[in-house]
Amino acid sequence: MKTKYVDVLVVGSGVAGLYCALNLRQDLDVMVVSKDKLDCTNTYLAQGGISVARDINDVPLFAEDTLKAGKYENDLQAVKVLTRESIENVDSLVALGLDVDKDEDGKWDYTKEGAHCVNRIIHTQDNTGENVAKTLIKNALCRDNIQISEDTFLVDIIVKNNKCIGGILFKDNKQINIFAKSIVLACGGIGGLYKNSTSQRILNGDGLAIAIRHDVELKDINYIQIHPTAFYDEFDEGRRFLISESVRGEGGKLYNVNGESFIDELLPRDVVSQAIFKEMEKTNSPYVLLDVSFLDEDYLKNRFSTIYNKCLEKGTDITKEPIKVSPAQHYFMGGIKVDLDAKTSMENLYALGETACTGIHGANRLASNSLLEGLVFSKRASSKINNKIDSFNLTKIDVDKIYASQEEVENDNRKIVVKAIRDKGGVIDD
Ligand SMILES: Cc1cc2nc3c(=O)[nH]c(=O)nc-3n(C[C@H](O)[C@H](O)[C@H](O)COP(=O)(O)OP(=O)(O)OC[C@H]3O[C@@H](n4cnc5c(N)ncnc54)[C@H](O)[C@@H]3O)c2cc1C
Repeated sequence: MKTKYVDVLVVGSGVAGLYCALNLRQDLDVMVVSKDKLDCTNTYLAQGGISVARDINDVPLFAEDTLKAGKYENDLQAVKVLTRESIENVDSLVALGLDVDKDEDGKWDYTKEGAHCVNRIIHTQDNTGENVAKTLIKNALCRDNIQISEDTFLVDIIVKNNKCIGGILFKDNKQINIFAKSIVLACGGIGGLYKNSTSQRILNGDGLAIAIRHDVELKDINYIQIHPTAFYDEFDEGRRFLISESVRGEGGKLYNVNGESFIDELLPRDVVSQAIFKEMEKTNSPYVLLDVSFLDEDYLKNRFSTIYNKCLEKGTDITKEPIKVSPAQHYFMGGIKVDLDAKTSMENLYALGETACTGIHGANRLASNSLLEGLVFSKRASSKINNKIDSFNLTKIDVDKIYASQEEVENDNRKIVVKAIRDKGGVIDD
């Protein structure tokens, strides 16, 4: 069994993990691991964009939209932090190289999504996440102090007296014990537990399972977001392809199979999803229709090139016919409870992105707020670690437990997380 020492162990290569790693001091020895390839993340799949306050005057409006969508069950302080710090973090991402779409005047082309009172979503066509991921990966690969290890699975954390002192990894079927001064869980969400989900299938809530095993506090784990419009394909068994909210933001119309409209398309996601489920039941159909074919063909092919090409591959030309859609699991609002610096209830342990619950989403996430959350709170975690880490020592203990296989751990993780969510009244369609 190998043993290694680093200053900071970051688990996850999505927006949260990589942005945190990039904001850590460059004199710190940082290790980033991902259980699959670096770009096999939900970050890579994000289509719509990143919400950001348009200017200082928009901050309270943005906060109010976030609170309203979250049914006022959000953590008010966390929402204030998110909205106030949105501009500086999006600016930093652009400085790292993200090429945001611009209007004719060369200004950011803000788009609109459900429940935002103004256009405040920046994007790069309809594959924003891919560009965010590529930007962060490119920067991380250039940093001498960041070592990256793909196909490396976090089995468990190492704990001594309720203090996290490292992580146990599997790589090439070999166990490696890593001791670190700070450990960051940025392991993404739980979509892989669902039959119908827009998420990467590998994301099974590993971080959550580890937290549950060690009695780390959780929050809101019954709050699961169902996206109203995933592509319906009766033969498709894998990940459900998302038809981004921005399609409705740019004018897309919803109809039931009888051609009747039934909902204001720009209401919050939970409201639209419920209306779709009702309509599917009423018409005895497994889908409803989302139509953009009345929009300009060239505009559609350019603005929604990913969606256009993917739908075409699946047999639907969105410039000529409506898209069959139905709701699917999309996002996990709950997670490991953290404070405003992303610190968990366990000493030295941080949680970020979809693994964490900062409380900004309340009962329902406002569209395009998750990439932003992954930026804002990761930056705060890095600042906290940068300031405190010199006072920490590496602690080493003997790790006696030998784990059988990744598959066995993942199966256990799934069972633990499914049970915890169901016990709190959350729904899983496995
Ligand atoms: C189809 C789709 C479209 C979306 N569109 C938008 C959008 O337009 N705007 C928006 O704001 N949000 C969007 N979201 C949500 C957003 O993409 C995610 O919430 C966000 O990217 C999560 O980032 P993350 O860094 O927390 O996790 P991810 O990007 O999912 O990364 C998770 C990482 O954790 C690693 N990992 C997990 N478990 C382990 C383990 N045991 N050991 C080692 N590594 C592990 C994985 O390998 C991966 O590297 C979308 C989501 C989906 C699915």
